[in-house]
Amino acid sequence: MGSSTQRHLAILRESLLRRLHELQAQVRTAEAAGRGGEGGDREVRDFKDEATQLADDVVDAVKVWRSIDELQQVQAALSRLDSGVYGNCVDCGEPIAFERLRVQPAAERCTVCQEAFEARVRAATDGRSPTGGGAARRP
Ligand SMILES: [Zn+2]
Repeated sequence: MGSSTQRHLAILRESLLRRLHELQAQVRTAEAAGRGGEGGDREVRDFKDEATQLADDVVDAVKVWRSIDELQQVQAALSRLDSGVYGNCVDCGEPIAFERLRVQPAAERCTVCQEAFEARVRAATDGRSPTGGGAARRP
């Protein structure tokens, strides 16, 4: 409450915006690189080159995917800021610690819920279906 919260929010908004621009630039660069075939000398020298190129493309694609993913989180955080609900955990509704937000301004869960969430994701990716779906949400 009060002016320190306002100051905190201003700091976090600023770092969110900075991150947003960084990510937008990354995605734009990657898109330009992916689209812009140099044309001309698309000579395949040997299979190894081709494979290396392919692997690089995959790595780039994964990077772009991560950037887009984070971009969406940052945008969501900014819209939560605008609607005045930023900083509250989406699972338990408790305020997220400023220290956590300062490190990860796009965080949408408190540490406890984030750990529980990651455990659910791990369980899901292990092939086991997460039991009971989403956690109970309080209004
Ligand atoms: Zn929580």
